Amino acid sequence: MAYTKRFDGRKFDEVREMEAKVGIIKRANGSAMFRTGKTIAIAAVYGPRELFPAFLQDPKKGKLKCLYDLLSFSVTERKRPGPSRRSTEISMVTRDCLEPVLDLTKFAYTGLDVYIYITQADAGTRAAGINAASLALADAGIPMKDLISSIAVGKVSDKIVVDLDKEEEDHKDGATDLPIAMSVRTGKLTLLQMDGNMNQTEIKKALEMGKKACEQIKEVQVKALQAKYGGAGK
Ligand code: UDP
Repeated sequence: MAYTKRFDGRKFDEVREMEAKVGIIKRANGSAMFRTGKTIAIAAVYGPRELFPAFLQDPKKGKLKCLYDLLSFSVTERKRPGPSRRSTEISMVTRDCLEPVLDLTKFAYTGLDVYIYITQADAGTRAAGINAASLALADAGIPMKDLISSIAVGKVSDKIVVDLDKEEEDHKDGATDLPIAMSVRTGKLTLLQMDGNMNQTEIKKALEMGKKACEQIKEVQVKALQAKYGGAGK
């Protein structure tokens, strides 16, 4: 059966209600919260600080490490605590999608640790984590060419949609999840994953919708930075 109306009444290209806050963890060098609907991510940046073991140090630039964790109580069916293949993969893609906008050349020999915790999960957690991490890095004063903005687009039954929630991901006709991350300023994608099936035309449409959503996310991110630091910069 066709998916004519979204479960929560949103338009097909409509993101969930979003909220962001910067500077939520005082002891961290930078921190942020990003929420989309019922999905909540917090991120904390520690460093740049001396990196151990020393053989990992890079004399040309600082080393970025990201650690994503979906907390046990964040999901309806308790998740076993500790790392998993899934969290290792998400940590890696998070680092790879943030690195292109960072200038770590001033921080040779040091390490920059970004911890991302999902306190409440309703799908789209990697995107929420990336949005929070990007803000936390800006809050830590790391030189950045742009923020990174991220969203999951995809297909629910026969419809291309933006910002799928868990109910949509579990649709009985099947769903495809296509998380993206981008620098809105350059339009360049830094993350593109797909879990499921979509043809070329569908992917193109999903990417167009996703890019528009990232523009909205960037506005939310910029507002959060302005709330702490003031100014009207983009
Ligand atoms: N999820 C869960 N338990 C887990 C992993 C995931 O309940 O151990 C749920 C959670 O709501 C998550 C969703 O499944 O947001 C989709 O997970 P996926 O791996 O597709 O990544 P995400 O969409 O969160 O980036």
